[in-house]
Amino acid sequence: MSTDIDARATDTLDGTGLIVWFTGLSGAGKTTISEAVRTELLARHLRVEVLDGDAVRKDLSKDLGFTRAGRDENIRRIGYVAGLLARNGVIVLVSAISPYRAGREEIRQRFGRFVEVFVNAPLDVCVERDPKGLYKKARAGLLMNLTGVDDPYEPPISPEVECCTDRESVEDSVTKVLSAVLPLT
Ligand code: ADP
Repeated sequence: MSTDIDARATDTLDGTGLIVWFTGLSGAGKTTISEAVRTELLARHLRVEVLDGDAVRKDLSKDLGFTRAGRDENIRRIGYVAGLLARNGVIVLVSAISPYRAGREEIRQRFGRFVEVFVNAPLDVCVERDPKGLYKKARAGLLMNLTGVDDPYEPPISPEVECCTDRESVEDSVTKVLSAVLPLT
């Protein structure tokens, strides 16, 4: 029996699972929107799991740093777990900065049923919000390699959904995401 995730992912899909991948700067609104989407999907009795980048960094990826290699490996692990869940019929909401286009594309290519949500807010808005105090720490010289500040972010070129959270309400963004996701369930 093959243990290749690529083969198994496509072989055993029951057609309901999918990966919804929220990418964007820290503070853009990924966690806020994905949690609200989760609530809506659960209300429709759909099977949902959330893989939040911050939680994964404290557990599955706690050995990894924030170099390009560390970030790529973190995303590869998240993609792997998301693929396992999704092929078992779960809608997986991934909320992770995932700054590199190639890493996101690799997961899209592997899994196929992949909805990319670009949670887009200008850096100055994210800095103003600073929900985790990361931008403040970076300004004080206490944090290096913060995406958007002194580390790159490669925005999606043609995401299925773009949420401009400086101009849209959380409800607007949730409606957009659901419009893309619900027809696939
Ligand atoms: P991320 O997960 O991308 O780091 P969070 O969701 O943790 O971002 O934080 C985003 C912050 O911005 C929250 O405090 C949220 O309440 C706020 N916010 C304000 N307007 C919006 C919006 N339209 N969409 C999403 N978040 C918003």
